[in-house]
Amino acid sequence: MFQDLDMRYDNSYRPVTPVGEDLALVYQQDAVLAREGEGLCFPRVGELCPELEPPSWRYAFTLGEARCFLGEWKGAPPSGFRFVPSREARGLGPREAVFAAAVGESLHRWYGGTRFCGRCGEPMEDSQTERARVCPNCGCTVYPKICPAVIVAVTDGDRLLLTKYQGRAFTRYALVAGFNEIGESIEDTVRREVWEETGLRVKNLRYYKSQPWVFTDSLLMGFYCELEGSDRITLQKSELSEAGWFSRKEIPEDYSNISLTGEMIQRFRCAGNP
Ligand SMILES: [Zn+2]
Repeated sequence: MFQDLDMRYDNSYRPVTPVGEDLALVYQQDAVLAREGEGLCFPRVGELCPELEPPSWRYAFTLGEARCFLGEWKGAPPSGFRFVPSREARGLGPREAVFAAAVGESLHRWYGGTRFCGRCGEPMEDSQTERARVCPNCGCTVYPKICPAVIVAVTDGDRLLLTKYQGRAFTRYALVAGFNEIGESIEDTVRREVWEETGLRVKNLRYYKSQPWVFTDSLLMGFYCELEGSDRITLQKSELSEAGWFSRKEIPEDYSNISLTGEMIQRFRCAGNP
C-alpha cells in the first residue's frame, strides 16, 4: 500500500534546525517544489537558502537517513525547479518521495490552518515539546488533524458488496466508507455507514488493518463483516451511484496496490474467506 516503504519513517517530534544537507519539502498551496525532470526529487535546504532563512524551516520527519524540513515559497520557483501539483506528484516516483510529499503537504495544510487561535484569535505558536500549536493567550492547544474513517468489505458467502461513489472523479468500484462521528465507537461507524449507504445489516466485524490516507487528512480503518438478514440493497443516492453483490469470479482485477480499498477487494477475490 501507499505507506509501505522500504525505509523507516520516523516522525517523533524534534524541534531541530536544519543544515544545508537536509531535504526541503517546500510548498506553494498544494504543489511541492521538485527538481525539473522525471520523478520527484526534492531540493536540499542549502540549495534554496544558503543562509537557512527565510523561509522559516520546520522539522517534519526523517525518512531513512534523510531529515525533511517544511518550508513555504512565495513567487516563481528557483531556477532548475518547478512546483508539482499534488495530483501529479501522486503519479510520480519513487514511492518514498510520493509519501514524503503527501505527508508534508498534510502537515503544511495543518500549519497553514492553525496560524491563529480559533478560540480567541491570537497568533498561535509551535509547542516545544510535541507536534501541536499553542495559543500563548488562552492556552488552547491544537493537534494535527487526523479524521478516523472506515472502509467496509461486506461479504455474503462467495459474494462481496461493491459500490460506486456519486459525483467523484474516482469511477472504479469501491467499498462502503465513511467518517467516524463524535461519541461513536469505530464498530458503530461500520454498522451505521453500511446501513445508511445500502440499508443492509452486518455482523461478525473483523478489523483488518489501517491506512494513513494523508491526502484527505484521514486514518482509514478496514473491516470485513458479514451480511445479516436480507441482502436487498436500498441505495443512498446522495452518496452512491451504484452498489451490488459480486461473486469472486465477477470482481474486476484492475486495482492498484496503493489503497486499502483495493487491497481488501483483491484479498477477498484471491484468498477465499478473509
Ligand atoms: Zn487563544
